[in-house]
Amino acid sequence: MHALDNTALDGNAIGGLLGEIFGTEMTTAAATCAACGTVSLVAETIVYLRAPGAVMRCRACTAILLVVTPHGEMKCVDLLGLSALEPG
Ligand SMILES: [Zn+2]
Repeated sequence: MHALDNTALDGNAIGGLLGEIFGTEMTTAAATCAACGTVSLVAETIVYLRAPGAVMRCRACTAILLVVTPHGEMKCVDLLGLSALEPG
């Protein structure tokens, strides 16, 4: 288990950004970690907002679930760490 540093936020911190990308409320979406299989609400995940992007991690195993990086006017979303993401 990795110690969480004090820049760690929760999924509410990325809710607005994900809502913008997916066009729906995402803090209540169920995110399934591809590494450990834990299902948690986006609001319950660990989020780091690091310029210029944002990283969402599994609270159980700290694997990276999702990365958002700005790409000009677009935002690139890497969902590789998620085996499922279902809007709640
Ligand atoms: Zn996990």
